[in-house]
Amino acid sequence: MQKIIAANWKMYKTRPEAAQTAAELALALADGTPHDRLVLVFPPFMAVDVVAEVFTGKKNLAVGGQNFYPAGQGAFTGEISTGMLNDVGATWVLVGHSERRHVFNESDELIARKTAFALAQGFKVMLCVGEMLHEREAGRLRDVLSRQLSTALDPLPEALSGALAERLVVAYEPVWAIGTGKVAGPVEVQEAHAALRALLADILGETAAELPILYGGSVKPANAFGLVGLDNVDGLLVGASSLEAQSFLQIIGS
Ligand code: PEP
Repeated sequence: MQKIIAANWKMYKTRPEAAQTAAELALALADGTPHDRLVLVFPPFMAVDVVAEVFTGKKNLAVGGQNFYPAGQGAFTGEISTGMLNDVGATWVLVGHSERRHVFNESDELIARKTAFALAQGFKVMLCVGEMLHEREAGRLRDVLSRQLSTALDPLPEALSGALAERLVVAYEPVWAIGTGKVAGPVEVQEAHAALRALLADILGETAAELPILYGGSVKPANAFGLVGLDNVDGLLVGASSLEAQSFLQIIGS
């Protein structure tokens, strides 16, 4: 399975800053990505177009939107549609990121609607799941992952199920490891990824084996190599350490 290394730039970088970092990445990866990896960048909305422009024609580099509202258009002040993202060159979307769940109170139900909507619009979806520290400490890891996955994927219409193998990626991001500097240890990551693979098999059957499962949470150049080599870890979703091209390039090459 091709490993995916994704950058979430959150609410960082103006358009010129994003264009500069994207250009550094594109230049360094001009002859292809190390190990034939797929590299994704999720810039802030205002910079999606400039990053997409820099990545045009570059094999293995793609751009995504960090968020959208699941409707074609309408009276949704402050929101952005998948059509608008498509218009500026995004082919991927993030859904269910822990900051959307916990800072903006997105419910499992909204995340399910967003997942189905984006897939129906032809987008590739990176669905993020992960437990909070108190849930892990209470022994509820599997329950939380099961609830998050089954709510997002169980109601998918039959017509979309066929698209999943090519267009769905799951990112395991323990909430307590995101932006905290606390990376989950190899045992914790493997336990969660094995649980996710089994839960996906329960929900989706054979397709589950083909779905990439990424790890995210305080990934840095120093720990990326160890993480990406673990069983069932098919790539990485990187926040803070993706903001500087050099550090993200080291992670891509890990
Ligand atoms: C993220 O935003 O998805 C993330 C994992 O952030 P960080 O790498 O900064 O923990």
